[in-house]
Amino acid sequence: MFPATVEGDEMSLREIKKSVSALSTRQLLKLDAWLHELIDTAESEKPDRVTSGRRVLEERKAVNKTYRLEEVRCGKKNCHCAEGKLHGPYWYTYWTEGGRTKSQYVGKKLPRSVRKA
Ligand SMILES: [Zn+2]
Repeated sequence: MFPATVEGDEMSLREIKKSVSALSTRQLLKLDAWLHELIDTAESEKPDRVTSGRRVLEERKAVNKTYRLEEVRCGKKNCHCAEGKLHGPYWYTYWTEGGRTKSQYVGKKLPRSVRKA
């Protein structure tokens, strides 16, 4: 079943390419813009998006949660972080509760129990 599906995808992609190559430059540019929009949307729907505006420097797995050392953007327009000088790094903890990802600020240092692990 599965290989047939892959082959089907390749076939349709070949068909798409054939159709695309017949387009005008103007249409290609529109298609290009649309594709980028499509890709951006797909990327933004990834669960990793929880870390947007953050740069993860280090990650530690604990029993039911994950600790991440992150530099963060506070979101204030006039703050230096808006120009790329992020705050931190600070540790945050992430865990899943009822199917949702939750996070909590830990601080500049990890709890002793986590550092040992
Ligand atoms: Zn800031």
